[in-house]
Amino acid sequence: MPSHDVLIIGAGLAGQRAALSAAESGASVAIVSKVHPVRSHSVAAAGGINAALNPEDSWESHAFDTVKGSDYLGDQDAIEIMCREAPDELLYLEHIGVTFHRNETGHLGTRAFGGASAARTYYVADITGHAILHVLYEQLMKRTEQIDRYEEWFTTDLLQDDEGRCTGAICRDLRDGALEVFNAKTTILASGGCGQLYKPTTNGLIVTGDGIAQAYRIGAKLMDMEMVQYHPTTLAGNGLLITEGARGEGAWLLNAEGDRFMEKYAPNKFELASRDVVSRAEQTEINEGRGFPDGTVALDITKVPRRRTLEALREIVNIGRDFAGVDITREPIHILPGMHYIMGGIKTDSDGQTTVPHLYAAGEVACVSVHGGNRLGANSLLDTLVFGRRSGAHAAARALQMPMPSAPTSRVADTEKHIVAIMNRPTGGRRIGAIKNELGETMNEYVAVFRDEAGLTTAHEIVRRLKDEATHAAVDDRGSVFNQDVIAAIELGYMLDVAETIVVGALERRECRGAQWRIDYPGRNDEEWLKHIDISVNGADVPLVSFSPVTITRWQPEERTY
Ligand SMILES: Cc1cc2nc3c(=O)[nH]c(=O)nc-3n(C[C@H](O)[C@H](O)[C@H](O)COP(=O)(O)OP(=O)(O)OC[C@H]3O[C@@H](n4cnc5c(N)ncnc54)[C@H](O)[C@@H]3O)c2cc1C
Repeated sequence: MPSHDVLIIGAGLAGQRAALSAAESGASVAIVSKVHPVRSHSVAAAGGINAALNPEDSWESHAFDTVKGSDYLGDQDAIEIMCREAPDELLYLEHIGVTFHRNETGHLGTRAFGGASAARTYYVADITGHAILHVLYEQLMKRTEQIDRYEEWFTTDLLQDDEGRCTGAICRDLRDGALEVFNAKTTILASGGCGQLYKPTTNGLIVTGDGIAQAYRIGAKLMDMEMVQYHPTTLAGNGLLITEGARGEGAWLLNAEGDRFMEKYAPNKFELASRDVVSRAEQTEINEGRGFPDGTVALDITKVPRRRTLEALREIVNIGRDFAGVDITREPIHILPGMHYIMGGIKTDSDGQTTVPHLYAAGEVACVSVHGGNRLGANSLLDTLVFGRRSGAHAAARALQMPMPSAPTSRVADTEKHIVAIMNRPTGGRRIGAIKNELGETMNEYVAVFRDEAGLTTAHEIVRRLKDEATHAAVDDRGSVFNQDVIAAIELGYMLDVAETIVVGALERRECRGAQWRIDYPGRNDEEWLKHIDISVNGADVPLVSFSPVTITRWQPEERTY
């Protein structure tokens, strides 16, 4: 049985950064990932990472932009930590070998991003996540004495002792289907977001909310789950992302009449207002008949000098050509708002501690909360690294002072039984893919840029029905080697749990704030709703809502304009 001081579930940026920091603190570490680590979804991150590193910039300015971007729902103590620690984190990355862009003077160069009052986004062309993830993985491989990697292992359940403390997890080796208890003094969930419960989404097939659901099922509180970000520039149909870097480099948004409509909605920032503002503006143009017949508006990247586009935005040149048949250096490309990110997640403090003892969370799975109602572009990579590192260090320090818990090995039998039951389901029920499609389309219709009570209630009813249908969705593969059918059935259960918490949160918050835009409750209502919605499990699987205060250190809520 694998036994470690610190178990990390997830090997994207948050997980790898946590592993390195826990190992540096002297702990023995296991890092588990359902895919090879460098295929983790962080590899898709494009535009860059924020840090106030230039002498004329300041962490306070970065923090204020983040607070304002969050529509005042972000916890300001956590935001201060993230923005203060950003420059050191960026230099750490540079020193271990991330080849950040350098400008003509040889210094690290920046690009502008939405909602920021200074150009403070550091980048590697439009493959920033790829570049960072690979360099962290090199570091991981250098530390094989302390860090054991379990690549292509799937975590099914978290384990708890009689006092409710997390004592590790059960994982399935995807190569042969074997189940193992991973015993650990402390466990860090770094298993990413939940984009796949929307269709379309910018997120890859592996982003199924596993960790959020696993923590929820053992009683951890979730927070800000209603806050789901729609990115302003995604391709119709497939949801592929056109990075915000394009607008950072100078691209314009145009409606079908050729108007640069952002002038109306954000006269100071235009295309570089925060994402919720730009997505709402686009959706308004589309809903009011000023979009194109395919339900889109246009992003005009020809405003960026062609040479610069080919140098700094080469991936989206490929995406435009391969997936839309458009040469973005010569003509505008049609885009629309699309599901991209969840600001909510497992409620943690700024050291990653969740409400379940000895369980930590970091990265997109977690809600610290530094993004509140709306995440600023390029703040997520920063969040994964700063809070990944902090979680790793805290979990290691705690683990080094504890005895190894005794593992409840009997739980493996329950998981085994569950998997056998999935494989033995009679054929004839609805297909897993069909249920997943209906879930994604439902969320995209009713829990999107604009929301109201009737739509959210419909979504809730559909999700409850799908939860029931999912319990008898049959699988075809009954083997043990790379049985992705069984994994898809388990992931579907996670997605439905997470979807329900999102819908319940969105029904609860009766105001407009950040990504939660209730057309039936116009305006932000600080008097009643300047608070977090926490969701935990109540009985079998009914979400229980409670509230917690927003931490305000120095920035009182103000009207938010760009
Ligand atoms: C297309 C795209 C572009 C983006 N660009 C940017 C950008 O430029 N700047 C920015 O700041 N943010 C960007 N983001 C957001 C950012 O990339 C993500 O929020 C961030 O990378 C998430 O990192 P993570 O470490 O939390 O999770 P991930 O990188 O998603 O890693 C999750 C890990 O958990 C593992 N895992 C999940 N479930 C299980 C399980 N059951 N068992 C075992 N392992 C499991 C996975 O295998 C994986 O290793 C972008 C997002 C997308 C989709």
